[in-house]
Amino acid sequence: MAGLDRNFTDELRARLSVVDVVGRVVPLTRKGQNYWGCCPFHNEKTPSFSVNEEKGFYHCFGCGEHGDIISFTMKHNNMDFRAAITELANQAGLKMPDYKPRDPNIVRHEDNLFDICEKASLSYAEKLFTPDGAHALEYVRKRGFSDDMIKKYRIGYAPKNNLIANKFAESKYLIQSGLCRRGEYGLYDFFRDKLMFPIFNANGRVVAFSGRSLDGSEPKYINTGDTDIFHKRKTVFGLNFARDAIHRANRSIIVEGQIDAIKMQINGFPETVAPLGTALTEDHIALLCKSNRNITFCFDGDAAGQKAAQRACGIIIPFLRDTSDVKFAFVSGGKDPDEILKSGGIDAMKKIIDDAIPLVDYLWQITNSNFLITTPGGRSQAEKFLKKELDKITDPDLKSEFEKEYNARKFNTWHKWKKSNISVNIKLPDIDTITKNTLIYIVNTYPELVEKYVDFLGTLGIDFDGIAPVLNLSLEAAEKYIVSLKLQRYLERLNIQKREFTNQLLAGNDAAREEIAKIDEEIQKYTEKLEILISI
Ligand SMILES: [Zn+2]
Repeated sequence: MAGLDRNFTDELRARLSVVDVVGRVVPLTRKGQNYWGCCPFHNEKTPSFSVNEEKGFYHCFGCGEHGDIISFTMKHNNMDFRAAITELANQAGLKMPDYKPRDPNIVRHEDNLFDICEKASLSYAEKLFTPDGAHALEYVRKRGFSDDMIKKYRIGYAPKNNLIANKFAESKYLIQSGLCRRGEYGLYDFFRDKLMFPIFNANGRVVAFSGRSLDGSEPKYINTGDTDIFHKRKTVFGLNFARDAIHRANRSIIVEGQIDAIKMQINGFPETVAPLGTALTEDHIALLCKSNRNITFCFDGDAAGQKAAQRACGIIIPFLRDTSDVKFAFVSGGKDPDEILKSGGIDAMKKIIDDAIPLVDYLWQITNSNFLITTPGGRSQAEKFLKKELDKITDPDLKSEFEKEYNARKFNTWHKWKKSNISVNIKLPDIDTITKNTLIYIVNTYPELVEKYVDFLGTLGIDFDGIAPVLNLSLEAAEKYIVSLKLQRYLERLNIQKREFTNQLLAGNDAAREEIAKIDEEIQKYTEKLEILISI
């Protein structure tokens, strides 16, 4: 269409899934590679309208209608092109750009950049198999890469001295492509003595490089900076290779590092990709969700991995649909997938992926571990956090399902404990005379302790006006006496509760089993506290 920036329609096609756009108005069911529904353009009772997510097209075998998200929106809503684009931009959360024809100079400029990247890639690949690249070849083979794999991923070697700057000296695009920089003595290669991984765009064209250091120097990886054809935030490493596999496996796996992604791809998980650089972005997820909304994140088990997982959880929520299957796997023991594959093989990795936690459970887990949910203040913070996360879900039905699920969990785990206290009638035994006399002495000697423990002392049913024998008890010892008594009383209370619930369990109330388990946990915790207190 004249006057429209092709970039923007491409962006819409990249951001929006055809299954989602069509699925808003036509109920679809997945069968094999396609989704099927009853055609909205002709009258039918059995579905002959198919939608192919991967290709981004729909086709009706009944009436022959076919097209993409734009033609569907135009035809279904009876809109013109511009209105349809505006509607889709709304769905994608994108601002409409000013319409401008795509400048042929820009197209030419980009083609030149693609061209020099391709040439550089061939030169690096060639260099790997020369004496200059012998150490790089040895390294990559030691990491478990066969020659076929080297060829497939087009792995290469950037030598210590200038290769690109000399070989393509006549090119005007060496700096703009990020391959070279200008120094005091002219152009020099940006990548030197590096193992080179080309970075491909979604169409499989080389747009940039990731260079791994071979002499142990840091950083381990350097990437081409952003150029007119390469945007780090919008590029998913390995996606061009993984696309078909993602479709077949009906999911993608996201790992943290690029070598991890390649090693996963060649060891039984061809649906694996990695974000470029370290941080996962919304753009990465949007790009992946276009192929498939079932995503298993696989993070390293260390603190950094946990942090990254929580971040990823926050990013993916707006992309959830009721058919999405999003999970979180953790590689334990501070290892990464490459090491797991080396030490435990595919089976060990498969177990990690199979054990992945569904998003609904993971979000619940982080809510419970990030806030002190045993206190009212902590629960209120946790509520706010959950609400903020759930508010990101765009599908109202799905959001309401999440809310229902979490309300049930909150009731069962946050509030039930309090409820069961009420349901059991507890009468603690009276305080014995020695304890009573000790407390009367303390109360009359240390008024500051009365103030501090007035709530507890009030529950004991003692008349503190009496006269008590004088004891040799310091303030510190007196306080310890009160605190350990408080703990003992609490433990007595728990034991009574436990007896009550045990009776209920024997009477056939199975729900009591869970209560007993909780009480046992509590008893253990407070017994330990008491032991520590008495021992000091
Ligand atoms: Zn039709």
